[in-house]
Amino acid sequence: MSNRAIVGINWGDEGKGRMVDLMTESYDIVVRYQGGGNAGHTVVNEKGKFALHLLPSGIFRDGAVNVLGDGVALDPENLYVEMEDIRSKGISITPDSLKISSWASLLFPWHRDLDALEEARLADGKYGSTKQGIAPFYADRSRKKTILAGELFYPEAFRKHLRQILEWENLTLEKEYGAKTYSEEEVDKWVSDYCEPMKPFICDTGKYLLAAQKEGKSILFEAQLGALRDLDRGIWPFTTSSNTTTSYIAIGAGMPGVVIDDVTGVVKAYSTCVGEGPFVSEMSGPEAEKLREEGAEYGAKTGRARRIGAYDCVATRHGVIRQAATEIALTKLDVLSYMDRIPVCTAYKVDGELTDEFPFPSALDSAEPVIEYLEGWKCDISSVRNWEDLPKEARDYVSFIEESAGCPVVYVSVGPERDSIIIRENRKEEWLSEHNS
Ligand code: GDP
Repeated sequence: MSNRAIVGINWGDEGKGRMVDLMTESYDIVVRYQGGGNAGHTVVNEKGKFALHLLPSGIFRDGAVNVLGDGVALDPENLYVEMEDIRSKGISITPDSLKISSWASLLFPWHRDLDALEEARLADGKYGSTKQGIAPFYADRSRKKTILAGELFYPEAFRKHLRQILEWENLTLEKEYGAKTYSEEEVDKWVSDYCEPMKPFICDTGKYLLAAQKEGKSILFEAQLGALRDLDRGIWPFTTSSNTTTSYIAIGAGMPGVVIDDVTGVVKAYSTCVGEGPFVSEMSGPEAEKLREEGAEYGAKTGRARRIGAYDCVATRHGVIRQAATEIALTKLDVLSYMDRIPVCTAYKVDGELTDEFPFPSALDSAEPVIEYLEGWKCDISSVRNWEDLPKEARDYVSFIEESAGCPVVYVSVGPERDSIIIRENRKEEWLSEHNS
């Protein structure tokens, strides 16, 4: 069987959770390999509506094994709360259905404090963090100031290591920010409340995944956020603190030589962006307000209103390249059904020059969008399941996206429910023959 990655092409919130939920049917294992609980996938299926933050989206499917890999920001407290919430809705989670890497690092409560303190200090210059501690966590991980989940199995060494880290974190909290510090008792209680319950789920997931790949099991890799938030090639410094791109899978899943046969890049039919940073095709006023309402664009984790923009050809093409996407899943096409004509950003104007290449981050502030309009279809398409049954204008819109992105659109999502999807079975082959001849 083949392996697949489902990744975000834009700023995140493209609807990856809904695509993973659809595709888990065909995979034995679902892996989260980066990021933390700072974003949220919304999944609607026969079991209900769920907001997932850290758990892989395969958690709802009987028989699927879900893995939290080496590269995730493992927040035991939030994971505990999320697991309890999902279990309370009748979903069973056992060490057979969830495996947590012994090589994943633990996110501690002070990471959340430090995140909020730094955002407050930055005031107007803030990054727009969700304050889930992700940036301080990854910074600490790089300077070796956090603890691996597997250390929990060596209690004496764990305690000693934790004491050393606590001393240093308290110094930072007190001296840099004049903030509340943590007592040893407080931290020990936190470990026993939230880390101990994780122990049955912890194992060497990299070893497990390599063996599974060798046995021919199929693996789905699920990313958080999108290409424009990638730590190395995103809209620096308004990126996240981990790599959101497929290049990181080998490290984050602990699978050297991983084979990824298909990369499904998830693209939204218009643009949204949460938090601060440049957003060239941003719209404002009643036009943006209406699209936000129609698309219910409010953050799954924070409830924050998302910034709204026209579909951005420049950003999407960049995302397709950075993710090495082999196909696109286009989501929320139904949301545009009310529009007479649909704005799209076809190029940027930077220093008076037109470009269709995504600029170096420092040039983004001065970039202006070039907006063109495509015909709307003005009818409800949410019950359409075949490509041929879409109105011509909707098909033209999708074709415009695939041509400008340089990648075939194989999936067209027309609603949040699992089956609200148009699957173009042979589109990849057609595309290759159209573009190689
Ligand atoms: P993710 O983080 O990439 O999974 O994205 P989010 O879950 O934050 O945002 C996607 C939102 O759009 C969720 O509320 C989904 O239920 C919803 N959604 C996904 N696909 C579609 C679609 O095709 N049409 C509509 N109307 N809603 C969708």
